[in-house]
Amino acid sequence: MAQVEGNAQAENASLQPHVFKVVLLGSSSVGKSSLALRFIKNEFKEILPTLGCAFFTQIMEMDGSALKLEIWDTAGQEKYHSVCHLYFRGANAALLVYDIADKNSFQRAQIWWKELENEFQPEEIVVILVGNKTDLEDTREVTLEEGKEFAESNKLLFIETSAKLNHQVTEAFSAIARELLKREEQNGGPTQQKNPTLDLKNTGRARKGKCCLD
Ligand code: GDP
Ligand code: MG
Repeated sequence: MAQVEGNAQAENASLQPHVFKVVLLGSSSVGKSSLALRFIKNEFKEILPTLGCAFFTQIMEMDGSALKLEIWDTAGQEKYHSVCHLYFRGANAALLVYDIADKNSFQRAQIWWKELENEFQPEEIVVILVGNKTDLEDTREVTLEEGKEFAESNKLLFIETSAKLNHQVTEAFSAIARELLKREEQNGGPTQQKNPTLDLKNTGRARKGKCCLD
């Protein structure tokens, strides 16, 4: 799998890139914004500016198909456990992120999963459980097995990452992309955004836009 940014290879792979909305979910400080930043710009920052709730688009190529992932990041409203309805609306995939060195964030991820289950039918959304910050192995509070077990029993994809060390970040997004394409093939039709409320014609570099500021 090669990750490309709006380059000709991906554009040529399919004239109509598959567009998917991907939302980041999880407690504050687990590294949601860092995962997006690493994936989109291959950068890492100890201190991230508080952005308004934003989305970014990233083009990637997977097995000859071009995908446009519209990645939605929160504005920190997860602190109050109140991500608005618009944030979820039309989502095709979710990264359910916790910090492997923070047991509480793992418990919160399980609560977020319940919320997703209330919002979506299982076949409507691809969910990957992401245990981030594997570089903090010395202070790990959630074992690899615990993460795996929760994912398996709920039929979620699972991966451990480090946004800091760029460990398996692209793989996390690739796993989602692969599963989205697989489901699309199985369904014999597009499972892409049902309610595209945004202009998705932009095929350039990562783009940032406002979303649900309520
Ligand atoms: P968010 O609130 O979930 O969006 O989390 P942020 O992306 O803002 O990250 C919170 C803090 O964790 C920041 O200081 C990041 O630099 C740090 N962080 C994010 N990912 C990692 C990681 O993989 N390893 C370590 N050690 N720190 C990380
Ligand atoms: Mg953030």
